[in-house]
Amino acid sequence: MTHHRGLTADDSVATAAAVAETLFADAAERDVAAAFPAAALRLLHESELMMAPFPVRLGGTGLVEPAAVDALVSVLRLVGGGDLSVGRLYEGHVNAVALVGRYGSAAQLERLAEDVRAGGMSGVWNAEGAEPAGLVPEDAGWRLAGRKILASGVGSVSRPLVPVARDGVTLMTLPRLAPGERADLSRWTAQGMRSTATGTVDLAGLPIGPDDIVGRDDDYRRQPTFFGGAWRFCAVQLGAIDRLLDLYRADLVRLGRGADPYQRQRVAACATAAETAALWVGRAAGMVAAEARPVAEILAYVGLTRGVVERAGLDTMEAVHRGLGLGAHLRPHPVERVCRDLATYLRQPAPDGAMADAAATVLASPEPARTLWRPA
Ligand SMILES: Cc1cc2nc3c(=O)[nH]c(=O)nc-3n(C[C@H](O)[C@H](O)[C@H](O)COP(=O)(O)OP(=O)(O)OC[C@H]3O[C@@H](n4cnc5c(N)ncnc54)[C@H](O)[C@@H]3O)c2cc1C
Repeated sequence: MTHHRGLTADDSVATAAAVAETLFADAAERDVAAAFPAAALRLLHESELMMAPFPVRLGGTGLVEPAAVDALVSVLRLVGGGDLSVGRLYEGHVNAVALVGRYGSAAQLERLAEDVRAGGMSGVWNAEGAEPAGLVPEDAGWRLAGRKILASGVGSVSRPLVPVARDGVTLMTLPRLAPGERADLSRWTAQGMRSTATGTVDLAGLPIGPDDIVGRDDDYRRQPTFFGGAWRFCAVQLGAIDRLLDLYRADLVRLGRGADPYQRQRVAACATAAETAALWVGRAAGMVAAEARPVAEILAYVGLTRGVVERAGLDTMEAVHRGLGLGAHLRPHPVERVCRDLATYLRQPAPDGAMADAAATVLASPEPARTLWRPA
């Protein structure tokens, strides 16, 4: 079945810009509720953003295709600027659809599109703790074993993409989960990102048929897609950095404090941080999409981008806190919430390792600094 709606990836950017302001307006309520943001996700469904990562023939806008990478940067940035928790959930959904599109069969992508059109969503649940996920064979297929931890949207994500170990390799599985099934949110006590419903999921016994296995052995870990995909969370984080600059500026104007030279210095620092992050994220996304440079170089660039965006986020939060003072720590000032969310979401896996691997690539490169990351 084809579903041509004639929308383009640029239409998704325009939609995201409109949706972001609605998300921002309701973000405080969601933060207090600290539950899965069902209404916000409905909004993403109604506005077609949940379908956007699918190809046009399946009713999407081709948002994860290489040619649309600039649009995807903008959409993630906008949704993140609306509400970082919703941005996190959306980024996971986009990543899962991209993985099924890249490594799965046409039929698997079609089925996932049907599920999403019917109101479902995906996400990538990879992190694990003491009970790693595995695959146990049985007559007609397999059953999952173990648990995933730090899984966003547990209890609500209906078709998660779950990488599991089997015979020393990683396989992507796409189980089906009913609402509330197997979800434990009791340990999600984080200061921020409270409405991501990030928790533990007990996978033991979930049936997996041949159609629920996506791609081949270790496709999930294929580079530069695996580590290189980190640019997407950087784009979501960038949205919060943008938002902090907007909020800081608005308060300075409202309070008539914009002429003060110290405040101007901080505004300049925030504007520089946001634009620096944007330039790195845009370039990293483009390099991953093009796959035209050596893999180590692409990964190094993305690794450095993570550090740049983390630094930009930390610097912006410090400047805004110092510039607005105590007021920025008092609820319901939106800076209070955005900073809690950003501080939490900046914590991503192995930041030291990403930086050190990038440095090792630079050390090993024969390129002079001037032509690092660029064709000579
Ligand atoms: C809001 C939110 C939602 C999330 N949702 C999902 C999801 O849906 N799916 C999913 O799979 N994951 C999810 N995660 C988890 C995420 O992918 C990371 O696993 C998590 O954020 C890692 O954070 P960490 O600070 O514990 O990382 P760590 O890697 O433990 O880093 C902590 C510190 O330890 C250092 N370090 C790391 N390894 C070593 C080592 N071997 N020796 C010494 N030092 C080391 C790091 O450099 C860093 O300084 C989510 C996280 C957040 C915050």
